[in-house]
Amino acid sequence: MVPELNTNLTPNQNQASSKAALDAYFALPPSVTKLREEILKDYTCPISPPSDSIEAQPLTKSEYYSLQHYITWRTTNSTVATYKGYRAVIAQATNTEILSLYKVVKLAMDKTHLHPIVVDMCPKSCIAYTGDYAHLNCCPYIRGGVLCKTPRYRQAEKKNSHAQFKTLPILASIRALYANAKTSNHLCHRDRTLQDVIKLLASVAEPAKSKKHFSDFGNGVLHGIL
Ligand SMILES: [Zn+2]
Repeated sequence: MVPELNTNLTPNQNQASSKAALDAYFALPPSVTKLREEILKDYTCPISPPSDSIEAQPLTKSEYYSLQHYITWRTTNSTVATYKGYRAVIAQATNTEILSLYKVVKLAMDKTHLHPIVVDMCPKSCIAYTGDYAHLNCCPYIRGGVLCKTPRYRQAEKKNSHAQFKTLPILASIRALYANAKTSNHLCHRDRTLQDVIKLLASVAEPAKSKKHFSDFGNGVLHGIL
């Protein structure tokens, strides 16, 4: 059972006791607990959410058609030549500037605040050069008793790495999802459903107040609520 809040404690004390109870409940493996401590350090969740959400800015006609064209190009997995070809056609048909591929990617990143994090990795996919490995110049991974030792860079002095991978920061991804009406509605679905279930349980527990009578069988009212 998830721990309940103790009203005799301050919010910070409640947070600490809830964390201890949740840790005991989920019984995380020591490796995960250690990793969590390394990542979180002294961070604790604020009592109230921060108010630095993304304010969606209106698009110009050029930005709108450029992004529409870019989305279509990406979802159809087309070539760069295709982007350029249709870019010229749409620009002529709409009498509007359609941004170049470089500019439209930058526009999409700026509007969504989604800037990927690029991390060097071993070209054999052994490790990523982050955390304890961030300062290394060759792969330390041992596979089948053999040390990989693949160099990190093609040319060490220019620091051009053999391989990289990109990740999108989770916080920026969640903010972007909440900034869009459709995806924000999807994210709130679980919260709304949970609230409806709690209200339903409360009304069943106190039928005199709710003025509703429920049977053991499903009915239209119940179906409508859920
Ligand atoms: Zn390796």
